[in-house]
Amino acid sequence: YAPLGEIDPEVQNIIDKETWRQYSGLELIASENLTSRATMEANGSILTNKYSEGLPNARYYGGNEWIDELELLCRKRALEAFHLDPAQWGVNVQPYSGSTANFAALTALLQPQDRLMGLGLPDGGHLTHGYYTAKKKMTASSIYFQSLPYGLDPQTQLIDYEGLAKHARLFKPRLLICGASAYPRDWDYAALRKTADEHGAYLMADIAHTSGLIAAQELNDPFAYCDVVTTTTHKTLRGPRAGLIFFRKDGEKNKDLEKRVNDAVFPACQAAHTTTYVLSSSVVSTVLTAPQTIAGIAVALLQASQPSWKAYAKQVVSNAGALADELVKEGYKLQTGGTDNHLVLWDLRPLGLTGSKVEKVGDLLGITINKNAVSGDTNARGRAHGRALPAPQRAARAAPAEGGGLEAAEGLFVHAERDGEVRVTGGAREAQCAGRAAAAHLEQVLLLAD
Ligand code: PLP
Repeated sequence: YAPLGEIDPEVQNIIDKETWRQYSGLELIASENLTSRATMEANGSILTNKYSEGLPNARYYGGNEWIDELELLCRKRALEAFHLDPAQWGVNVQPYSGSTANFAALTALLQPQDRLMGLGLPDGGHLTHGYYTAKKKMTASSIYFQSLPYGLDPQTQLIDYEGLAKHARLFKPRLLICGASAYPRDWDYAALRKTADEHGAYLMADIAHTSGLIAAQELNDPFAYCDVVTTTTHKTLRGPRAGLIFFRKDGEKNKDLEKRVNDAVFPACQAAHTTTYVLSSSVVSTVLTAPQTIAGIAVALLQASQPSWKAYAKQVVSNAGALADELVKEGYKLQTGGTDNHLVLWDLRPLGLTGSKVEKVGDLLGITINKNAVSGDTNARGRAHGRALPAPQRAARAAPAEGGGLEAAEGLFVHAERDGEVRVTGGAREAQCAGRAAAAHLEQVLLLAD
């Protein structure tokens, strides 16, 4: 029972340095979050000692009495957090990540080589939505299914719903996937439902990025239109790293969806802890989300169901909006010219800079951002030409940023954790100040990158 610092000071020291990095710098990566202390406690608990394959009350190991109670509680909280009626919706809380949740959902909804359509990766879609290149089918979702991507309107950079409907009439997909990794605008789920219905297709939303904002009802509701909704639990939802699959239980078409989803998660995609299949860049693992992670998810879902969550999500959107407005005011180009959610996609091409370079300079200044392709990008995934950092900068980066945090940006941490409580730092005015501070700091990054 000796603490980590005594048993392994080396690992403790690395954790301390990372803690300092996260709290002293400006963490602006849209797919990350600072989870609560309560969630981390649950996620690091004694539950890690337990195997719990199978479903509650139908396990393949003994001693799961309390794990069953936990998983049922987590399911209940998942439905509550998203305002769902348990007569209409069910949820599987076992996928160990967003990628495995998506592959399990495809396995449940489709036969091998069935057709699906998802937003193309270069336009902000995710690898697991059927991505392939002209040279290679490198993701499980394109190896095992026939995929045709849809895209953005080149003028507006918004989803081209008309083009999507036109291509769907030719391709006749069995599944339409919406949701994205890098799309700063909300979705028209009604339009997608209409197209799906034309072909008797399923509609699935992957809300990995926006689930925390959807739980707060700050964005359109995918549950009103979709058959299946998947999400990660660690982005705007602020939980530990895992995935969820929601499925409809009502209607003739969905009557056996519960069993198909549950069977797809285990045993189709997840089994014993000892084997992990890696299918190119999309991972399909056999590791069942461990009970300690389900405990962490349950805690995060409880927090996302409380009134303070609404204020938190509102402020996240307000901060991102203020950041976007400020950058546009300064004459910079953003994809779609702004944002509806938590994500800002800055087109650096007019500045002659690559995302990779700006990301690296940001790291040196304690501002954590990530490169990404923008629509029409010829420089795949925002990667630069791979010039290594000079040695002094590498050293600066490796050293803990002692006292080097960006004080002015402090207010941006609406999700900063103090004494175990979600701390929302003031109203819209403060959010705008924080957004402006972030914009100013990002400008410094640009100057240095240039
Ligand atoms: N779906 C979307 C839209 C994502 O952005 C991501 C991750 O970034 C995933 C799925 C995959 O989630 P994970 O990294 O947990 O596998």
